[in-house]
Amino acid sequence: MGGRWSGRRKGFSRRVTTDHFCSVNTKCLKDNGLLKCTEGQLNWRVFDLSWSMGGEVTHSAAFTLEAKPDGKGVITMQHHAHDAPFQAHIERTTPHYGGTRYWFCCPGCSERTTTLYLFKDTPMQCRKCWRLCYRSQLQWTKWNLYERAEEIHRELGGDGDFATNMPPRPLRMHRRTYERKTDKIFDLWVTGATIRH
Ligand SMILES: [Zn+2]
Repeated sequence: MGGRWSGRRKGFSRRVTTDHFCSVNTKCLKDNGLLKCTEGQLNWRVFDLSWSMGGEVTHSAAFTLEAKPDGKGVITMQHHAHDAPFQAHIERTTPHYGGTRYWFCCPGCSERTTTLYLFKDTPMQCRKCWRLCYRSQLQWTKWNLYERAEEIHRELGGDGDFATNMPPRPLRMHRRTYERKTDKIFDLWVTGATIRH
């Protein structure tokens, strides 16, 4: 380890390990108290996140959260395997039922997203951009595994975003069937994750 990464390690205020596969999610940041507003302004934060698979840390990255005068923010990520940092804007919305929702503005397509995915040699981007990127890199095997995992996730009533959430067991489904399906999703995910470039 060296260079920019080790230099930036000093000032971290928080260290969070998540089992989410290489993704950063506004809800996770909010739940960990990292994404917070005081008087309409995002709080400035530095923290690092690591991702683990089977108890082993696979990736880590350093983050800086900066408030902008217009109430929006910018998140900067320095992945330890990258030379250059990546940035994404953060926006806030206030749903009618109250509270605050935070969104990333995807650096790839500029659309609002709650989750950005990180990979060793691609910038952080939303699932849609990530799929395009992986397709173009002919990551077919990995892609097929993840597509199957998404399919099962949807069968369980989920949105296909298997890396960030698991839908609860559908009422009419046997517990054993549900467990088999969730195990399958995890297997596909782990197998896909071990496929390297
Ligand atoms: Zn995108």
